[in-house]
Amino acid sequence: MWFTKVSDSVRDAQISIAAFLAAIALVLAAIISGFADNSERQLRDLRDTLRVSAVSGDIVIAEIDGRSLQELDKWPWPRGYFADAVQELDRLGAAQIAFDVEFSAQSDRNEDEKFAKALRELSQPTILPTFRQENLAGEKVVISEALPLEILRENAFLASVNVRAAADGQIKHYSYGETTFGVPRPSLANMLARTGGAVDESFRIDQAIDPLTIPRISFVDLIEGKVPRAAVAGKSIVFGNAAIELGDRYPTALFGVRPGVDIHVQAAETLKKGTIRGDMSPIPIVIGLALLVGGLAWSRARDPKPAFWKRATVSSVFASAVIVAIALIGDQLAWAYMPLFAPLLFVATFVIAKRTLGLVLNLQLARLTDSESGLPNRARMRQVVAKLDSPVIAAARIADYSDLLAMLTSDQQTQLDLAIARRLALLDGVEEVFRIESGIFGWVMGGYDQNETAEDVAEEIFSTAKTLFNAPVDVDGERVRVSMHYGMAQGDIAHAVDASELARRKGFVWSGNAAALHEETQYRQRLLGELDEALLDGSISVVFQPKLGFASGQVSGGECLVRWKSAQLGHVSPADFIPLLEEKGRVHDLTLFVMREAIRRQKEAADAGYPLTLAVNVSAQLLDNFVFIEMAVQDLIAAGCREKGGITLEITESAPLQDSETAKRALTQLREAGARISIDDYGTGQATLNYLQDFPAQEIKLDQSFIRDLVDDRKDQIMVQSTIDLAHALGFEIVAEGVETQEILDILAGLGCDYAQGWHVGKPMAWEDFFSQLGTVPVSVSAGKSAAA
Ligand code: C2E
Ligand code: MG
Ligand code: MG
Repeated sequence: MWFTKVSDSVRDAQISIAAFLAAIALVLAAIISGFADNSERQLRDLRDTLRVSAVSGDIVIAEIDGRSLQELDKWPWPRGYFADAVQELDRLGAAQIAFDVEFSAQSDRNEDEKFAKALRELSQPTILPTFRQENLAGEKVVISEALPLEILRENAFLASVNVRAAADGQIKHYSYGETTFGVPRPSLANMLARTGGAVDESFRIDQAIDPLTIPRISFVDLIEGKVPRAAVAGKSIVFGNAAIELGDRYPTALFGVRPGVDIHVQAAETLKKGTIRGDMSPIPIVIGLALLVGGLAWSRARDPKPAFWKRATVSSVFASAVIVAIALIGDQLAWAYMPLFAPLLFVATFVIAKRTLGLVLNLQLARLTDSESGLPNRARMRQVVAKLDSPVIAAARIADYSDLLAMLTSDQQTQLDLAIARRLALLDGVEEVFRIESGIFGWVMGGYDQNETAEDVAEEIFSTAKTLFNAPVDVDGERVRVSMHYGMAQGDIAHAVDASELARRKGFVWSGNAAALHEETQYRQRLLGELDEALLDGSISVVFQPKLGFASGQVSGGECLVRWKSAQLGHVSPADFIPLLEEKGRVHDLTLFVMREAIRRQKEAADAGYPLTLAVNVSAQLLDNFVFIEMAVQDLIAAGCREKGGITLEITESAPLQDSETAKRALTQLREAGARISIDDYGTGQATLNYLQDFPAQEIKLDQSFIRDLVDDRKDQIMVQSTIDLAHALGFEIVAEGVETQEILDILAGLGCDYAQGWHVGKPMAWEDFFSQLGTVPVSVSAGKSAAA
């Protein structure tokens, strides 16, 4: 999804091109290194096994076999034996007689004569072999040539029987004819097959011709007259060595090691069958295939919904099947040999490379993408950031994310993520919005000029971002209010995230100070650790701040405020540790502690004849806490508050009373147990008097912020005046907090306020000091000086 910049089809085309080039490179390497040739040879043997065929049967081998050697004793045989053999063949009506046996050396003169005479008297000339060998003598190549004895060759045709083995020892090629002693002569196979062909040109022996099917007669049977006429009449007979002890054996591709004479017959049969085929070069085939496959891949990449057969794998496999079929048909019909290895290597490499690349890319994509929303994730952001030179990074953190999560289904959460990312993407210079972790998004801030500092830009961007989220986000038809805290840092994603957390804790829109979070966190960690003991070891104490009753002109009560003097941390303000305890859900112990202190002191004062009301601060959060309410109720009842009163509970309304029904029920319980209920810091929260009307409260405490500037600020005067009037009309008493001067006190008296609290009346003090001042008049009030005047 986030990869939309590079569309799927373009990516597919890129993969195809890479796979294509890889395939071409591999094929070239295989051809150049000879690997393709080697493999092709093996493939060829394999293909030949599919078309193994028997010989024509027109050429018969007269074998000088092991049995003949045994039965005819002494080797080399007297040449008279050969005379007998050819005479017998002639008598039986052989069409052609040839020898793959060397007769170049002189033997017994009589015997040679016998053989020469027999040859002379045959009805047609015999074929005798000529050899030509190239031997290495030191550095020089010495050519040795051999012809049959002159008296023998006078009445014979001469044919060359030279063969050259390839590197693997096999004889693959056979010549039509060769020159010996300066005379060009046809090869033995050529003469047996009675074909033509140019001297020094060769052809490939058809390895699929099965030499085991060549008809054979044994030399000894022949000269003993045991060979039936039918076996040789009208046939070409070749004498050759077959006995293992005579050597002259060569490996064949499909039929093991065979006597040399078998190879000659195999070659002759190749000529007779005409299964001589030219070899095609693999290169044009590969090029043709590459064009086909490449073209298909290309047309597929441009096609958003490619047909099944256009898919790279399918079309490649199909193209290969066609090529294999053509090649095999070519084999059967002996058109030409079409190489398959290089073309198949090309297709296989292309398909495998394309698949692998696609897979790797998808895996990589998955690693860099948030699985739910499909947004680029932190890993992806890290990748982007790493490429930039110290970029400024922004993080946006959803406030109260856990509450939001509780409210939304997981589907809606995903939609919310996407909607937020879309909205953030509207900000100036945001190219890509990353989902760093759940509830936290990020982007790289860019495109500001050198005159501006990162702070200036952040201030501007984040205040715009804030307004972006003024409107609720639409999630599945539901309108969700989202507020964000932002963080900024140079070069480090984690720092930007930390800064956003700091902003959240401090209630700022944004922060660029990641380091402060660490100090904060450390400090909070220490606070929490020490608070556990503080309640026990007495380092937490309660001070009392007097409240002046305008009606009586005397101290009518006081507010209990906690003080903590930590051995390690020094004086710690409740403004620091109370919110921390609230956040960790551990404020109830402290509150019960203060309440018990208040009850104890209230009784002490009452016993001394001063019926005070002491106020205890209760976090609104505690109203949800049934255990706390139960314990507080019991304490209040036990102290007899139901009868005598004396305790006020100030509800610190920091967040709007979430579940107002539960809160009302809890407050009613506390009130029935004898507590007066007061709404603290009125005017700073969202509660209006109208809203509070059906709360079981008796008192409203106007926040200091309205009182402080009362002398000069006309708007505050109007606000205070109207609040007092309305509160009275609704039956609430009014306390003004933060009264620091006589002037303010006087104004408040004029406005009809009921109680005043503040440094001018008395600072928070230890109980002993507070107690000793009871009964005195702390300040005088001249109610006549109305500010409204
Ligand atoms: P609060 O309940 O609004 O308490 C009044 C705060 O204003 C006290 O600060 C007090 O010292 C201060 N103050 C009183 N007169 C003046 C004045 O004339 N000028 C100025 N500038 N300040 C004045 P403190 O003691 O630091 O307490 C801060 C807050 O901590 C309290 O605000 C209250 O919300 C919370 N708190 C204190 N004690 C407790 C407690 O026992 N339980 C709970 N839940 N919260 C407490
Ligand atoms: Mg208070
Ligand atoms: Mg207050």
